[in-house]
Amino acid sequence: TTKQLIVSEKLATIGEITAGVAHEINNPVAVMQGNLDVVRNLMGDKADIARTEFRLLDEQIHRISQIVTKLLQFAKPEEYAGYVERHAADNVISDCLPLVRHLLNKAEIEVSRSDHATRFVLMNRTELQQVIVNLVVNAIHAMPDGGVLTLRSADMDMDGKPGLSIEVSDTGIGMSSDVMQKVFDPFFTTKRQQGTGLGLSISQKLVTRQGGKISAESEPGRGTTFTIWLPEAA
Ligand code: ADP
Repeated sequence: TTKQLIVSEKLATIGEITAGVAHEINNPVAVMQGNLDVVRNLMGDKADIARTEFRLLDEQIHRISQIVTKLLQFAKPEEYAGYVERHAADNVISDCLPLVRHLLNKAEIEVSRSDHATRFVLMNRTELQQVIVNLVVNAIHAMPDGGVLTLRSADMDMDGKPGLSIEVSDTGIGMSSDVMQKVFDPFFTTKRQQGTGLGLSISQKLVTRQGGKISAESEPGRGTTFTIWLPEAA
């Protein structure tokens, strides 16, 4: 429809602008990090006095470069497309957990897994990992007082096509239907300065590029389940 066309043109324009701005930010940020390292080295033992400040500067610079990377990936996903390979979903899930272990421990979250997928998926491993980690990090954010994170995989057909599903469930804050409608919109976040609102829109792009789907179910105060469906690798 015309409305869809306008929306997709708008997004294309946002993408162009975003990619341009992100590129421009990259250079000064790299220069800042370089200079920070030089100053720290020049100070030698005295750098200890400003230990906290150095750490904060490092963290914030790291955060800026992470946002910039996300923006670029959102704006130019095709430039970031990697090798597509055949994977057992459960192996990829297993690879993701160590990456978020510290967050899980900090928030006292119990992990429950049920691995049932026997089929293989066709996707870039890093990208699939990124999608799962995105969902898991969101689930952790939704459970500040702890809870249960459930990771479930199963063989599943969709519209007559063989494939498999990966579910990431939390027992967290859940989402109102208002929030639910916007979660996949680029830049939509309820996390203020802590969020970019790009995690789910990037995840959706990566999954749909492989012919898959990503969907959400949620109940405020009870929790949320995100489901990724991917076609079976022939
Ligand atoms: P970000 O995490 O940077 O905000 P995302 O695109 O990953 O960006 O998520 C967008 C928004 O969707 C979040 O700010 C949050 O409001 C909502 N959301 C995503 N996952 C969950 C979840 N598991 N539980 C509750 N809300 C969620």
